[in-house]
Amino acid sequence: MSAFPHPFRAFTAFRRAAYTAGPAPRRQFLPREFLELLLSGAQARLPLCDAPDLPWALAEAVHDPEYLRRWRQGEVTRSEERALGFAWTPAVVQRGLGSSGATLAATRDALQRGLGINLGGGTHHAFADRAEGFSFLNDVVISARWLLDAGYARRILVLDLDVHQGNGTASMLRAEPRVLTVSVHAQSNYPFRKERSGLDVGLPDGTGDQAYLQALETQVAPVVTAFRPDFLFYLAGADVLAGDQLGRLALSPEGVRARDHRVLLWAARAGLPTTVVMAGGYNRDPQTLIDVRLGTLDAALNAFSRFPQCQP
Ligand SMILES: [Zn+2]
Repeated sequence: MSAFPHPFRAFTAFRRAAYTAGPAPRRQFLPREFLELLLSGAQARLPLCDAPDLPWALAEAVHDPEYLRRWRQGEVTRSEERALGFAWTPAVVQRGLGSSGATLAATRDALQRGLGINLGGGTHHAFADRAEGFSFLNDVVISARWLLDAGYARRILVLDLDVHQGNGTASMLRAEPRVLTVSVHAQSNYPFRKERSGLDVGLPDGTGDQAYLQALETQVAPVVTAFRPDFLFYLAGADVLAGDQLGRLALSPEGVRARDHRVLLWAARAGLPTTVVMAGGYNRDPQTLIDVRLGTLDAALNAFSRFPQCQP
């Protein structure tokens, strides 16, 4: 019998040695003590599980095998390290496998329980054959491919609300008509060369709550509803918040809560199995970032408890 009044749980790679041991990456936006606070805040809401590593074969189903081989063996150039955003170490590979494994485990949960959660994930700047923007493996593309190949989903929506365009995801899924990629981002932010998603909504710098939520309502909702998805990946980026070191939008914590609430209530009400990944967040105020992350969990638990899904 669970100690929680709901059947949901979250997966995390953050307790692995690749995150807790050894030197931190050069750009450490979320100090370790705050990672601990995030984990304990999550643990007060739902059981927290360590997922197994992603099997390499699933990465090879979407990434170039030669790219994976070189990165596994550390045959990485300086310019590739610059594109990634930090230097190669074995931990880079371990984090990619751990985080993508957690997204896959969450996706299995979504099939069985309606909702699956990875406390990290959303490495949407990884391309089939190159790493960019802290992204070595594209966890969502890997799990989407697994769903399609296994016949568990036929029309997948990737709703990417991270402040940065999901360029790797758009590129990797461009030729896949069974997946609709939607990216709502700050137009002038990284990546400066955008890829074409199924739907791109590029917002001006400084966009606040009202204009952001309006864009979701008028530009995104009609397109995603018409697509009639049977599975949702939700990238709940917290880097849309005002005060983010890498973002150019200006949402308040309440605005992000309203966003998460609307998206997740829509999905739960529609009976849409949903994998939530956290994606980016680099706020100058770590406590605000943690509160918003936990707010995403609350929105998901609330929505999917109100509209429980049938077991397949
Ligand atoms: Zn981002």
